[in-house]
Amino acid sequence: MSIQRVLVRFGFVPFMLLGLNGAAYWVVSQGRSYAWLLPLLVVAFATAHAGERIAPWYEEWNDPHQDENANIAHIIVYEISNINGVLLIPLIVWLFPFQGIWPTEWPLLVQWLIAIVIADFAFMIVHMLSHRYPFLWRLHAVHHGVGRLYGFNGLVRHPLHQSLDMIVGTMPLVILGMPVNVAVLLGFAVSIQLIVQHANVAYALGPFRNQMSIGRIHHIHHVNWGTEGDCNFGLFLTLWDRLFGTFLAEPSRPIKADDMGIDEVPHFPKSYLEQMFFPFIYKPGEGEPERYQAQKPEGSLGSEESKDRLRPAE
Ligand SMILES: [Zn+2]
Repeated sequence: MSIQRVLVRFGFVPFMLLGLNGAAYWVVSQGRSYAWLLPLLVVAFATAHAGERIAPWYEEWNDPHQDENANIAHIIVYEISNINGVLLIPLIVWLFPFQGIWPTEWPLLVQWLIAIVIADFAFMIVHMLSHRYPFLWRLHAVHHGVGRLYGFNGLVRHPLHQSLDMIVGTMPLVILGMPVNVAVLLGFAVSIQLIVQHANVAYALGPFRNQMSIGRIHHIHHVNWGTEGDCNFGLFLTLWDRLFGTFLAEPSRPIKADDMGIDEVPHFPKSYLEQMFFPFIYKPGEGEPERYQAQKPEGSLGSEESKDRLRPAE
């Protein structure tokens, strides 16, 4: 194994989770401008991109899939919504003036960790319900339609689903009085976590492999094998999945590069606008909408069905 591979394998997660979150903590705790978090986010994406080239889980996930433009649009919309969410905090605090519930006098680091654990619980519940109820699954399916996992598509969400996530996941914290600086740190940590969770980087987690909801644990969540992916809903920890009995440490068979996606929608739309309309066209359980069946399957990750479609009739 080359020295770069070793570095990526063992250094990627500590750099992303401890290094970048640590830098964000420094920015916020020193009272610097929150704008400094933007270059840190760019460093996160660039590191994921470089790591994916040096030590990928699957080479195939690095191939272009004509999804880059849509993913960049998703990232911009996602982060603008994040900023809007933070800007709304003073209004929410004004509407719900609960005093003294949030421990603002505790160290910022402790407040941040409390926010992460509580938000992880709320995100996990929304996520679990999104796999259970068709009206939520239609929105969440936009995140699962991708035929590969890589850093950029961690933030691929339908804005309606993201809003739901933010309302259920962070509003209770804000109503309890979570200050803006903790909310900013929480939002940053969630973005970094989503990048690490989906990055095509074969990072080693050692003893944390089954404690953190990233890496192989999250790959199992994205398999297109019927309902087998309805597990491992956590974003940060596997703690909540263990408590709800939805934790799965090993898949029933080895995961291959083309096992990602939604089995009934092999021709998931590539354009951002089509993806925005997807929840209103897709009817879960009724197969792929005709609109997508007609699409050229280029870039779809080797689904047998789509290959068959390309073969001339015999
Ligand atoms: Zn999911």
